[in-house]
Amino acid sequence: MNMKKTILAAVLVMLLSASALAQPVYRFTVKIGIDCESVDSLGGLDNVRAKITDMFTKVNKAFNYTRQFDAVYDFVVDWDAFYVFQGISKDEVFKPHPEHDYLVIMDGFKNDPKETGGGWYGADIQTIYHARTHTDHFNDPFEKNAIDGIIHEFGHARGMPDIYAMQVNADKNPIAPIACYGERCIMNYPYGETLWSDYAVNMLNLSKDKRIEIDELVAAMCPEKIRITVLDPSDAPVKDAKVTLYPGPWYSYSVSEKPLKESKTDKNGLCVLPGDVYGKTKDFGLGCPNIFVKAEYDGLTSYGWLPLYEVQNAAFDGKESYDMTLRLKALTPSKPFEFKINQ
Ligand SMILES: [Zn+2]
Repeated sequence: MNMKKTILAAVLVMLLSASALAQPVYRFTVKIGIDCESVDSLGGLDNVRAKITDMFTKVNKAFNYTRQFDAVYDFVVDWDAFYVFQGISKDEVFKPHPEHDYLVIMDGFKNDPKETGGGWYGADIQTIYHARTHTDHFNDPFEKNAIDGIIHEFGHARGMPDIYAMQVNADKNPIAPIACYGERCIMNYPYGETLWSDYAVNMLNLSKDKRIEIDELVAAMCPEKIRITVLDPSDAPVKDAKVTLYPGPWYSYSVSEKPLKESKTDKNGLCVLPGDVYGKTKDFGLGCPNIFVKAEYDGLTSYGWLPLYEVQNAAFDGKESYDMTLRLKALTPSKPFEFKINQ
């Protein structure tokens, strides 16, 4: 390396460390409890401590190494509060933890019929249950997929809903066999994934280091309006096109046949809807996280999706509305049998 390059490298290092210094650090304390049979299966407490340390290195890395967020995330295990429990992990998750931001309960065994297993984040109790598939066999909570899973749960803990809750399968869409797959994100499919989608980045940045309620956060981020423009095949606006919205309920992978709303386009081909057209529920804040849109006029049709992970980014971008354009077309091809076999 010549002198010029050495100086350049030094300047670069200074700039990088300056930008790292400029970023605030969001620090969250974590209390951990693990069941005693899992400790035995993992070869004792020293091994468990080493595995937890490694797990949290990976959790923090998942939040920081893509440098997607406004801050550096630091989830810190409080080793003085670390404990081993005997009994039902499902009871353990409801224990209050006023001294810590989060409680993580780990359990690799089903030792009681009441234990359900699985992995989830309880927003009301600020607790991550990290038990994986629960069977009589030991399921290692430190296995690679399990770690990808707990990273996803910490995503919930910092304000992000499940993107997969907004998916729709083609065979569960009674209006037209069209699917909505969600978008690439740790909060859609976490296994082997390192990317936080723009929506996840926006939601986490919005949450900052505050104690948050995901449902309230999501319900508050609808843009003021949703504007749907309907065009004909030659791109001219279509007046009086019928626009029907079908709700895709949370975690259902489906669209319901009963319309949420019906509307018509004006002379500019425009249909303006309120941004919170998703409705409200007690369980999830917004009534549904996705809407299937059907536009029709004179035998021509077009379809579209309004998933929150796209629509709410308009609000994050400071826009008044989320704009969608639907181009009408004939449902049947004009010359379907032009090609024939055995002719
Ligand atoms: Zn989830």
